[in-house]
Amino acid sequence: MSIQWFPGHMHLTRKAIAERVKSIDVVIEMLDARLPGSSANPLLGEMTGHKPTLKILNKQDMADPARTALWLAHYNAQKDTRAIALDASNTAPAKALVAESRELAPLRGGMAKPLRVLICGIPNVGKSTLINTLMGKRAAKTGDEAGVTRTEQRVALADDCYLFDTPGMLWPRIVVPESGYHLAASGAVGRNAYDDEVVALELIADLRRDYPALLAERYKLTLDAVAASTDDQLLEAVGRQRGALVAGGRVNMTKAAEQVIADFRSGLLGRITLETPEQFLAWLKAGKAADAERQRLKQERQAQRPTGRRPSHR
Ligand code: GDP
Repeated sequence: MSIQWFPGHMHLTRKAIAERVKSIDVVIEMLDARLPGSSANPLLGEMTGHKPTLKILNKQDMADPARTALWLAHYNAQKDTRAIALDASNTAPAKALVAESRELAPLRGGMAKPLRVLICGIPNVGKSTLINTLMGKRAAKTGDEAGVTRTEQRVALADDCYLFDTPGMLWPRIVVPESGYHLAASGAVGRNAYDDEVVALELIADLRRDYPALLAERYKLTLDAVAASTDDQLLEAVGRQRGALVAGGRVNMTKAAEQVIADFRSGLLGRITLETPEQFLAWLKAGKAADAERQRLKQERQAQRPTGRRPSHR
């Protein structure tokens, strides 16, 4: 069962971003460092006309540092793209953002040609937190100077560098089933779009493969037990360990699932990144192959259908 998520109003955002981007030099795309591939909206590149892009892998404090390094290298190898990792504990992010943006648009700058930067990101990725930090720091630094300018969603990052907020909502877009599970686990898609148990089982499968020691430690299991159990058995073990029981001593699987998801979201399971660039690219490839096969079968069915008169329904 894959996750179905069709948020509305994307066409409005699309038009608004396309309009705003005309006067923008650099696009900052905020990603969740725990799921960089899945937290990107692939339509953004189309909307922004492939402007120079700074990828921010945010919430790096919760992500696996080794995997963050892989993602940074992956993005830094792309044309007109730079990437940095960030988290809310960084109290002076403006300096890095301005420096990276200047590298991406070296011809802009100075009072006559100020650098204009647009910040985008799916909900929950930490955009408001970052913007608030940027505003606060600027206010603190400039004292009684009128440094903070957040009229019309605009923040002055430096005298000649302005940051604009996305007009509208950039919703996540689920391109492969794995992305759906990861977005749901992170809290980026609405609660009614998924089933906790399905998402928790996928999360357990990921953790069992990539972070068995963290799973064992959090739920007081042995590594052998983690390796030998099925995902269902592990979810049951979590429920038992956390006391999510119903009458008769059976495990309340929904409660157990909520526990696993909450532990992932709060970082109690440890520093985890759910996907590597290599894994994500493989899923995309498989997804594209599946789409092509579906398309081929559809065309085959259409070709086999008799043409001419429509079937009568007598
Ligand atoms: P927005 O929807 O993109 O504006 O996201 P928010 O700024 O509201 O952040 C969503 C949640 O993530 C909040 O609970 C923030 O406290 C939390 N958050 C934001 N940035 C970070 C970060 O770098 N690290 C951690 N651990 N949490 C963060």
